[in-house]
Amino acid sequence: CGVFGIWAPDRDVARLTCFALRALQHRGQESAGIAVGNGSTVLVRKDLGLVAEVFSDYDLGAMPGKLAVGHVRYGTSGARSWEAAQPHLSTIDDVIIALAHNGTLVNSDHLRAELDRVGVRFRSNTDSEVAAKLIGFFTGHEHRIIKGIRHTMNLIEGGYAMALARENALYAFRDPHGIRPLVLGELPAREDGTGAGWVVASETCAFDIVGARFVREIEPGEIIRISEDGLVSEPGTQARATHNCIFEEVYFSRPDSIVDGSSVYSMRYNMGRQLAREAPVDADLVIGVPDSGLPPAEGFAAELGLKFGEGLIKNRYVARTFIQPTQEMRQMGVRLKLNALRDNVEGKRIVMVDDSIVRGTTSKQIVRMLKDAGAKEVHVRINCPEVKWPCFYGIDTDVQAQLISATKNVEEVCQFIEADSLAFLSLEGLESCVPKVGWCKACYNGEYPVEVPPAFAAGKFV
Ligand code: 5GP
Ligand code: SF4
Ligand code: MG
Repeated sequence: CGVFGIWAPDRDVARLTCFALRALQHRGQESAGIAVGNGSTVLVRKDLGLVAEVFSDYDLGAMPGKLAVGHVRYGTSGARSWEAAQPHLSTIDDVIIALAHNGTLVNSDHLRAELDRVGVRFRSNTDSEVAAKLIGFFTGHEHRIIKGIRHTMNLIEGGYAMALARENALYAFRDPHGIRPLVLGELPAREDGTGAGWVVASETCAFDIVGARFVREIEPGEIIRISEDGLVSEPGTQARATHNCIFEEVYFSRPDSIVDGSSVYSMRYNMGRQLAREAPVDADLVIGVPDSGLPPAEGFAAELGLKFGEGLIKNRYVARTFIQPTQEMRQMGVRLKLNALRDNVEGKRIVMVDDSIVRGTTSKQIVRMLKDAGAKEVHVRINCPEVKWPCFYGIDTDVQAQLISATKNVEEVCQFIEADSLAFLSLEGLESCVPKVGWCKACYNGEYPVEVPPAFAAGKFV
């Protein structure tokens, strides 16, 4: 998912949030929503669909406010329903809050049961709504939201980056391992001195579109509160060892987003160079699977002095395949989205670089497509290691039986996708291309930074 938050009392906060969500659209396409705090209450508008489908000019004009939070959803928990769309509203003890969450909580079933016992009612079956209701519940009569958030952060486990709107303040906070990303930015004042503000977002690409400047990351375990009193940082929960999600750098983030001073594009380019050093192959043309395979393909070609060019044309108007919830739709998706460029591939030995193999469906179909278009050889190179373990912290790869590398070795996967050769980037190689911070690599090595309760993991391992 993608989250965004803005505090800017003399700007059109709903419209700026809508722009930001469009920049974050790659992070989720199931639903979109915006909540606005207007000084006296919190208004939410959300629906299934893309940002451009959900918000009309009219809707945005009807949501004036001082602050806003926004969300684009890519479902990992709960059904694809209207009720699962975010932000989630909670109105307990006269406290109205709206919460936008990126991530997955591993212990929400138990917390939900506890809230249920004391009479709190739910509209969806998502972990995010549990967090919203917990915060509302613990905020209580004194309306101390910080207290509600802090108490909740000490109860919930998993990966989370959250932005919360109340009528007159914006809050943002992040899990103690920093698994899911969350950055803070500053909106400069206009020439006449008005319009200054603050923003938070899953990725810096959302800052560029609204004209904000990156300030820093929200620290793991930290709570930020922004109101008429300015920005304050409060302790939320004790930070633990840092484990940023490395898959953000491999696939999820937009290439123009900046992490620790370097662009995701340059990290991916370097992954391609490293992959070429680890698994070189002679070929006539190196191509990338658009979009996330393009930077590493360019790096791969540069390292070996091979020609880099287009071999696959993407239909830009079809959403990301993986996000389609059924296997049948996913298979349709690849054909709807990509087509081989016969002029460039016919009679050639091709290296095809992609970011990851999860189920193997995409690679198999693309290899077939390239061969149908006359490619003589297709060598597949993947710019991350084999995905062998399910993710429990917010990326939808969670049934191990569906991960092709969990049950097949490289040779067998190569046969399955009908490629002439196949190689994955090593974990050490991948780590050499990203900033030197702590990383979650659980989907590659099975070392989970946050313990996964057996009841939650049930059925998700082979
Ligand atoms: P597969 O067909 O092997 O299951 O999926 C791999 C393809 O799906 C890659 O081309 C990758 O770009 C794309 N993809 C889209 N969303 C995701 C995601 O959340 N995780 C992974 N691993 N791949 C994704
Ligand atoms: Fe990211 Fe993989 Fe860790 Fe999930 S398991 S948070 S996808 S690195
Ligand atoms: Mg892809």
